[in-house]
Amino acid sequence: DEDPRINRIKTSIRVVPNFPKPGIMFQDITTLLLDPQTFKDTVDLFVERYKGKNISVVAGIEARGFIFGPPIALAIGAKFVPLRKPKKLPGEVISEDYTLEYGRDCLQMHVGAVETGERALVVDDLVATGGTLCAAINLLKRAGAHVVECACVIELPDLKGRERLKGKPLYVLVESH
Ligand code: AMP
Repeated sequence: DEDPRINRIKTSIRVVPNFPKPGIMFQDITTLLLDPQTFKDTVDLFVERYKGKNISVVAGIEARGFIFGPPIALAIGAKFVPLRKPKKLPGEVISEDYTLEYGRDCLQMHVGAVETGERALVVDDLVATGGTLCAAINLLKRAGAHVVECACVIELPDLKGRERLKGKPLYVLVESH
């Protein structure tokens, strides 16, 4: 890795074997957040990539997309739209069901949060099977937005999540095998 910031990000992520289930290597980004410089570097790397790209929406996926998405949105002058687990959003919603590395779930977005033709960035902490990002892409498409890219801190490339993203580009800072 050329950028020294990337190595600090990589080493600041704690890997917890067998959490929350046997066989899962949980990538814990809370240890990254404990170092303000590393947290800032993480946000800055995304901001450097997306500023000036005419992105008007950053859609963050519950829960850890709510940590990285808002500072990126503020820095690039975009709105932040939370994509939430069921029964959290009080207004009218659209829903997408999906499967993830450990279970089944659903993401919802408020109707009216995004307008037709808006350019969107989808943010989460990690891509595993890609099911979660795929659901997020589908929600934004249904709202008429153009998904420019998906951005995650970590990719588990062995699970081939990239192939589930309907041709949408995926940008990640670190890979974990
Ligand atoms: P997937 O839909 O399979 O790509 O799973 C990605 C979602 O599940 C993200 O929201 C992650 O936060 C979470 N996730 C899946 N696998 C892991 C893992 N090994 N460590 C931490 N988070 C994970």
